[in-house]
Amino acid sequence: MASNRTFTMIKPDAFEAGNSGAILKMIEEAGFKIVAMKATQLTQEMAGKFYEVHKERPFYADLCKYMSSGPIIAAILEKDNAVEDFRALIGATNPANAAEGTIRKIFAKSIEANAVHGSDSDENAAIEGNFYFSQFERVI
Ligand code: GDP
Repeated sequence: MASNRTFTMIKPDAFEAGNSGAILKMIEEAGFKIVAMKATQLTQEMAGKFYEVHKERPFYADLCKYMSSGPIIAAILEKDNAVEDFRALIGATNPANAAEGTIRKIFAKSIEANAVHGSDSDENAAIEGNFYFSQFERVI
């Protein structure tokens, strides 16, 4: 059964550009409820842990450097069919391929600086949410 939670980050490019509010507005208007949220900044080491599944990929070092380059917003979101619906809302990894009206199409700068993260499975949504938030920060 599909879980009703997913995890997102507003990435450093979107945060720096002042697009966090507009992105959160799109997320809420699409029916997602924010159940945990914080602004923070990853160290390169923490970014490396978060993206460990990509460590064999050629862009891994660049990605860790980029994701630790400035503040981000991390949030847990709730909605029926959250993981799949959120992936549809954000669009393809490469903004050049993202559908019109998706968050990445509107706000992403490149395939790397692509504005937002969205979990790709229920299992990863739980792992990623736990990476950022303790039980005490998830009281809703
Ligand atoms: P996602 O699930 O759509 O975020 O995409 P992936 O899990 O495949 O990749 C994780 C993140 O790595 C992406 O969101 C991008 O920030 C970055 N990324 C993916 N592919 C590339 C690439 O070919 N080059 C670079 N520089 N970054 C990439």
